[in-house]
Amino acid sequence: MKTVSTIAELRTEVHAWRSQGEKIVLVPTMGALHEGHLSLVRMAGDSGDRTVVSIFLNPAQFAPDEDFDSYPRDTDKDVEKLRPLGVDLLFMPRREEIYPQDFSTLITVPGVAEGLCGASRPHFFSGVATVVAKLLNQCRPDVAIFGEKDFQQLLVIRRLARDLDMDVEILGAPIIREPDGLAMSSRNAYLSADEREKAPLLYQTINEVANAIAVGEAIVDLLDAAGKRLTQAGFEVEYLEARDADTLAPVTTRANTPTRVFAAVMLGKTRLIDNVAVP
Ligand code: AMP
Repeated sequence: MKTVSTIAELRTEVHAWRSQGEKIVLVPTMGALHEGHLSLVRMAGDSGDRTVVSIFLNPAQFAPDEDFDSYPRDTDKDVEKLRPLGVDLLFMPRREEIYPQDFSTLITVPGVAEGLCGASRPHFFSGVATVVAKLLNQCRPDVAIFGEKDFQQLLVIRRLARDLDMDVEILGAPIIREPDGLAMSSRNAYLSADEREKAPLLYQTINEVANAIAVGEAIVDLLDAAGKRLTQAGFEVEYLEARDADTLAPVTTRANTPTRVFAAVMLGKTRLIDNVAVP
């Protein structure tokens, strides 16, 4: 697995593959890799000829009061985890490579980026959209893979790629969970032992809500009861909503279009997000 840190080196490698007609797949990450990330990398191996993984902890998607400084970083471990997976190229740019001093462009994606995580983290999706647009331009992959764990982010990226006429297929990958249901996340490392024990209640709750919506129970009542249950258990609920899986329009009565239940909570100092499809 070759590792490069400049855009010029990345382009040289990828250009050689492209000129041979090989299909290139990009998996962007922020490091602190876990099985969720690795599942994307495996999917990349099945989706094309060459796999490029990027590791870049993107400062633009963190507000000043968020966890950029404390976000887990362990590049050596990340490299060890990627090594057996047949990754062709690891791109680990330095901050100045991505954001030179006078960098000033910002991509915003109104609509899908509003509401849910966009409501409490207004900076977040423009930070994500900008860095992902840059990575897609730098690598020019045929396919890029993103996890459904960050479902709203996946839709934002799909929209940005379509709106900016990027010649790339955006694939979504299913959420990988711990055996007790907790969605894997680099931020799970922040949880205390007590919090870790409690954390799977988030998934259990939204899963129950999704199943109850499927059999026709009243959505507003279900969400209300679920929110109370989580609050009583010590979660601070930021949002708990049913939304259309394609447009993210709020769903308040059972619809025939694909629907998902979305939640964000604080458990102590840790922000957890999760979502499930209504079956
Ligand atoms: P991150 O490093 O948190 O920015 O995540 C990099 C990519 O991995 C994103 O596309 C995430 O949606 C995806 N991802 C993170 N956790 C999971 C998970 N538990 N299951 C599937 N994909 C995930």
